[in-house]
Amino acid sequence: MKKGRLVILGGGESGIGTALLGKSKGYDVFVSDKGEIKKKYKNVLLNNEIEFEDKQHTESKILDADVVMKSPGIPDKVDLVKQIREVGIKVVSEIEFASNYTDATLVAITGSNGKTTTATLTHHLLKQELDVGLAGNIGDSFAKQVLEENYDNYVLEVSSFQLDDIHDFNPKIAILTNITPDHLDRYEYKFENYIASKFRITENQTKDDYFIYDADDEVISEWLQHNQIQSKKLPFSLTKTIEEGAYLDNNKIIITIDNNQIIMPTENITLEGKHNIKNAMAASTVAHLLKIRKQTIRESFENFQGVEHRLEHVLKINKVQYINDSKATNVNATYFALESMDAPTVWIVGGVDKGNDYKELFPFVNEKVKAIICLGVDNEKLFEAFGNMVDVIVETQYMSEAVKIAYKVAGAGDNVLLSPACASFDLFENYEDRGRQFKNAVRNL
Ligand code: ADP
Repeated sequence: MKKGRLVILGGGESGIGTALLGKSKGYDVFVSDKGEIKKKYKNVLLNNEIEFEDKQHTESKILDADVVMKSPGIPDKVDLVKQIREVGIKVVSEIEFASNYTDATLVAITGSNGKTTTATLTHHLLKQELDVGLAGNIGDSFAKQVLEENYDNYVLEVSSFQLDDIHDFNPKIAILTNITPDHLDRYEYKFENYIASKFRITENQTKDDYFIYDADDEVISEWLQHNQIQSKKLPFSLTKTIEEGAYLDNNKIIITIDNNQIIMPTENITLEGKHNIKNAMAASTVAHLLKIRKQTIRESFENFQGVEHRLEHVLKINKVQYINDSKATNVNATYFALESMDAPTVWIVGGVDKGNDYKELFPFVNEKVKAIICLGVDNEKLFEAFGNMVDVIVETQYMSEAVKIAYKVAGAGDNVLLSPACASFDLFENYEDRGRQFKNAVRNL
């Protein structure tokens, strides 16, 4: 049964997954990538006899599509994408495409920070008792898993770019962790466009669905005051008592849904930092909704190992704790990292500044940071912001040197924290590369 022509722009993880799923559903599939497609993906396309091109976009082969799946990395302002929309071809994202081919219960998680942590933790809680996959921006693409695994439930990490091209995507449970300005270059530098994009996670929800969100987040609360959503709201809060949803009371998380309450001590949670209590509240609200037993939730909190590059404890050397938070690519993430430091801290920071305003970090830097090591090509803004605040501030462009300096400056009982508040691509391939280099340098001390 021929379905029509599916053109996929972008031959990465989500593109290849969509190609495989599309082919199995009877589409005539063509993959086109302006850059070079990785060898492992090329092999998949060749083995499955899927036509593709790379290092170019041949318009005639693209503009005759019935539907286009645009990978999240490709911005709307690209001429080809504009043309596709102008001629009226339907553009979908990978989660939109794949969700048409599964009846699974979908838990979709978005937000500016905390998506991966909350998605991984939620998956960890659910998998103890349910058949559940973890997809989205993590690991194997959602489309590929829909084709090959066919789980009963999916936890999906969803970026705003994936939400930009949904039409019918309707998660049973949606989570919005927080909203702070990010990726504004993709939203005409208008914060309201980015906010609207995040809230699209709720747009197809009905009264039988759920929306879990941070009630302490002013941007989210403000939006909800002026806009209606259909799904049942389950807020979580560190500061307020919440009747339907989750809140913190004397180191206990209290979750109430339809008069059914569970209480969980936070001592069980291995993750550090207040932001992780929020992530834990969101994840356990999902677990409670999907009827995971209380005891199971508690136990699985205890054995959750955390996620690599997010406040990851690397090693203790001479009573100094080395912590890798390379994923902190914006100020908000670093805010929570510094907030969670409970000892004098040598802070490694820097990289590509995305228009950062460092003011909100000042109180923590004054209180906790004893030395700053700037690790970027251009460190001027850091020197300006923090130069007068600490006794030691130095710069380097080598991770190994940054770690050696930290080793010299730190004393027994201190922390050495890599939490850059910046993107990594001035000196590193990506944040994973930066985190790995940090860990290797620490291990080589
Ligand atoms: P994302 O997938 O949204 O980028 P991650 O879970 O990978 O989020 O975490 C990114 C960074 O943000 C890490 O440095 C982490 O410590 C921090 N972080 C995690 N959860 C939150 C939260 N709820 N609020 C703010 N920052 C957070």
